[in-house]
Amino acid sequence: MSVVNPATEQILGEYQMDTASTVKTKFERAKAAQKNWKTVGLGLKKQIFTNFRQKLSTNKDQLASLLSSEMGKPISQAKGEISATLTRIDWFLTHVDQVAINNVVFETPGWSAHKPNQMQEMIQNEPLGVIANISAWNYPWFVGTNVFVPALLTGNAVLYKPSEHALLTGLAIGRLLLESGLPDDLFPVIVGGGEVGGEILKHSVNGVFFTGSVQTGQRITNSIANRWTRLQLELGGKDPAYVRSDANMEHAVGSLVEGAFYNTGQSCCSVERIYVEKSSYSRFTNAYIQNAKSLVTGSPSDPDTFVGPLARQEQIAVLEDQVKDAVSKGGKVVVGGKPTKINGKGYFFEPTVVIDCNHSMKLMKDESFGPIIGIQSVESDQQALELMNDTEYGLTSSVYTMDRTRAIDILSHLETGTAYWNTSDRVSPHLPWSGRRNSGIGVTLSLDGIRTFTQPRGWHLLSNPKV
Ligand code: NAD
Repeated sequence: MSVVNPATEQILGEYQMDTASTVKTKFERAKAAQKNWKTVGLGLKKQIFTNFRQKLSTNKDQLASLLSSEMGKPISQAKGEISATLTRIDWFLTHVDQVAINNVVFETPGWSAHKPNQMQEMIQNEPLGVIANISAWNYPWFVGTNVFVPALLTGNAVLYKPSEHALLTGLAIGRLLLESGLPDDLFPVIVGGGEVGGEILKHSVNGVFFTGSVQTGQRITNSIANRWTRLQLELGGKDPAYVRSDANMEHAVGSLVEGAFYNTGQSCCSVERIYVEKSSYSRFTNAYIQNAKSLVTGSPSDPDTFVGPLARQEQIAVLEDQVKDAVSKGGKVVVGGKPTKINGKGYFFEPTVVIDCNHSMKLMKDESFGPIIGIQSVESDQQALELMNDTEYGLTSSVYTMDRTRAIDILSHLETGTAYWNTSDRVSPHLPWSGRRNSGIGVTLSLDGIRTFTQPRGWHLLSNPKV
């Protein structure tokens, strides 16, 4: 398979794809390697990831360039992703003990191992076994480390299938883990597209952790439906923001331009639609337009670039269709609106703002996954709430207001896994990352996002039994 630079359309390399037979071999070897790995002490496992962190930090610039070249992420944001990945690894290293170390939860009062008939109860979190991690391209360091770091630290083997649009980063992750001391066969990188991903699922993996689109999530769910395999799906979003009239407008505008256009709008938690209270609509949209016009679109290797190319050429047609549909239903394109090229090449789309939107438009209902935003005026908090919930997705939502109580009240009525007050497009390792409705099932990050790679065993321990 070829890896293509989406900014220059140049082929970066040709790679041999895995086949049914090589996937089978990788699975069998991973299964054998995991039996030993689960018995390795937590201290050694943590040391390997400390080494990994060190190597990632040392090679940050080179790895950021690699990522930028294969999926078009602006270089400053690629470096930002790797820096934040380091913090995330630190968090896992600090918190994994709370899940991986056995926890005594009950003892007979005055318990001693030497006294007769004393009961001790203990929870042990055991690894699931071999897990499949089928990953997306938009944040390969983030969405990858959210899975393979806690999975390996808790004693699993991981069959890692990077997206075909982030293959070079996936191969680099595999190399770095081996150089950090991870034993062979525990983290085979599987090369290929959807068909090869399907091959992995034919084997008796103990968990499937998927990040990607709803359509692929549905296919994966169907393909393992008759098996007792833990399934976790991190899927798409159509994340809304609501700006009340009492918001700090300057802050709201800056935060929501960044929330919509960072990573060229290709984040699962990108802000994809904005509702503004009627009395502030003109003020907000005027300032938003000015700010969006100042975004620098250009070569991802230029440190000043904020908006790069789309990673996937096919997405251009989706965005064009959303613009056309919105305009035919009364929307006004006030910034951008069409594909463009830099030096005659690349899958670029102008940063695009459409105002006067309504919910008959695809732009306000379907995932865009690109540098485009729809803005709609609303009469009240109640109308904002109804529109924000009028979607099949439920990843994040945000409310901008000076009134914390009102914000929390509105956010509590929204069906999303993450709620933001005066912020957006933000992920923290302390907090669970979890979807509702078509945004998926399960959780990464937080202690629950470590626990999800384990299964609990209850121990009942009776000392010195005496009749
Ligand atoms: P995608 O569904 O096209 O591909 C995701 C992965 O699945 C790739 O590795 C692909 O090769 C593989 N795949 C495709 N068909 C398969 C099959 N039949 N069996 C097994 N594997 C298969 O998605 P994408 O374009 O890589 O990612 C974009 C999507 O991911 C967006 O919808 C975005 O919102 C979502 N996403 C969600 C989160 C989250 O945390 N919720 C994070 C990042 C991305």
